[in-house]
Amino acid sequence: MPACPITTDVNLAAATLRDGGLVAFGTETVYGLGANALDTKAVARIFEAKNRPHFDPLIVHIADAKWLSKLAAEVSPLAEQLMEAFWPGPLTLVLPKTDLVPDLVTSGLPSVAVRMPSHPQARELLLKVDLPIAAPSANPFGQLSPTTARHVAATLGERIDLILDGGPCLVGVESTVLLMTESPPRLLRHGGVTQEQLEKVIGPVGTVSPTGDATDSEAALSPGMLAQHYAPRTPLSLIDDVNLEELSRSGKRLGAISLSGVDAGSAFAHEEILAPNGDLTTAAAEFFAALRRLDAGDLDQIVAWPFSEVGLGRALNDRLRRACHS
Ligand code: AMP
Ligand code: MG
Repeated sequence: MPACPITTDVNLAAATLRDGGLVAFGTETVYGLGANALDTKAVARIFEAKNRPHFDPLIVHIADAKWLSKLAAEVSPLAEQLMEAFWPGPLTLVLPKTDLVPDLVTSGLPSVAVRMPSHPQARELLLKVDLPIAAPSANPFGQLSPTTARHVAATLGERIDLILDGGPCLVGVESTVLLMTESPPRLLRHGGVTQEQLEKVIGPVGTVSPTGDATDSEAALSPGMLAQHYAPRTPLSLIDDVNLEELSRSGKRLGAISLSGVDAGSAFAHEEILAPNGDLTTAAAEFFAALRRLDAGDLDQIVAWPFSEVGLGRALNDRLRRACHS
């Protein structure tokens, strides 16, 4: 298949989705690879294009609340409170599903993950297509998430039908995923809405163990939380796990990624500073693009400085831990 067109024509994108096509589109989090969630043939093409394992369920995107009652068998008052506070925006709620939602979308789980994005063009697209759209990130499975149309074209351009260019993503990390079938709700994935923001609205939430320590029952709750994910091709290690002196003497070409720069700057052939002023929102928006630049820098190893474990720092640390090569 030749490389697909990149367009800003929302009508064309909506028509392509209605015809069972695959359309990558920009959201505030990362670019999504969309298909009609009610059309199993179209959804199957998402898994094929991404090489995504079938045990990893998809998030369904809506713009009109009318779809909620069609997709979710029950919407608790707590869920309503969260929607009121954070929708549209980077919060995904996992709710009991109705029979309308194909098992392929939920990987056979009795629940469905639903999100209402805030990106104006994504909303326009969803309203025009007037269907729920299943959309994982628009990248090959396990690789870095795309935050520009060009990132999508570089890896999936030949496997999909259209890219709707919505500009660079403003949040830059995936949505927060909250499991609403438990009390209190459990945070399955840190993302664009922080744990602190959630807890201000609904009080303490449950969490899952960080990467690598997930129990079997936790893995069953959120099958997509794989230990290695969001990974560049170049080996990446956290600063705490390397001997920097030894590495510097090894003659390897090194890259660094940190929030606001590192003392040992001269040891690195390529340094990415995400936000010189330490602002985590700026850092999140830059994060995946910076990792891509490092990956393109012909380096032997990337060393990452973790963020403070607050606010968006939690989501960024989660992505960093999963980006490490074991
Ligand atoms: P992605 O589409 O790659 O941003 O990731 C979607 C992630 O949301 C999956 O990998 C799961 O971890 C989570 N998820 C989606 N649907 C469900 C569900 N029904 N139950 C629990 N987690 C879900
Ligand atoms: Mg993904």
